[in-house]
Amino acid sequence: MRIVDLSIPVGPGTQVYPGDPEVRFTRHATVDREGYNLLHVEFGSQTGTHVDAPYHFRDDAPRIDELDLSLFTGPGALIDVRGAGARGRITWERISAAAPRLEPGTIALICTGWSAHYGTPAYYDHPFLDADACRRLLDRGIRTFCIDAVNLDETPDSAHPGEGYPVHHLIAEAGGVIGENFRNLELVDFPNPLVSCLPIALSGADGAPVRAVAIDLR
Ligand SMILES: [Zn+2]
Repeated sequence: MRIVDLSIPVGPGTQVYPGDPEVRFTRHATVDREGYNLLHVEFGSQTGTHVDAPYHFRDDAPRIDELDLSLFTGPGALIDVRGAGARGRITWERISAAAPRLEPGTIALICTGWSAHYGTPAYYDHPFLDADACRRLLDRGIRTFCIDAVNLDETPDSAHPGEGYPVHHLIAEAGGVIGENFRNLELVDFPNPLVSCLPIALSGADGAPVRAVAIDLR
């Protein structure tokens, strides 16, 4: 059994979304002092490889610990959109080749290749999912959207206003979830991967870190 780790490490060097809390680790106990090692860990609820609950964009929507766990485990379908380019729009034309594998309940793995820029300012200039393409994926019964970039929508900055997170709103309205900061999606080169991206059960939270993997069960 081969397990591909789709997660980035969480620690003081983790690159976070602009404005999000930085990760801080403080030694709370040490072997020398208390006889054991224990960390005090501080980070935002959407740090590192994580999933967003619908509550992230809607006050009246389910929170991360209220969601059916089947959203986070199941067959994955790789959607190869490498070549979309910096701030490239991922349109249905780029996705349609993968359409036959996009059955209801499939976990969509949107492979932009942009995780290669993780740790640099260019990481924020990632490709993003077009709203019409998102509607078509929702129409096919997709409820789990994972991307190897910091955001499924365009990330605004001083030169790019963004679009107001339309894809986050569409998926939240449909009761779906979004996985961000995935990596190694290009290594999911085998048929019928089993994907697991179960979030920590943070009570009432908008999202939570995950250890995401793709498993080759052949
Ligand atoms: Zn998020």
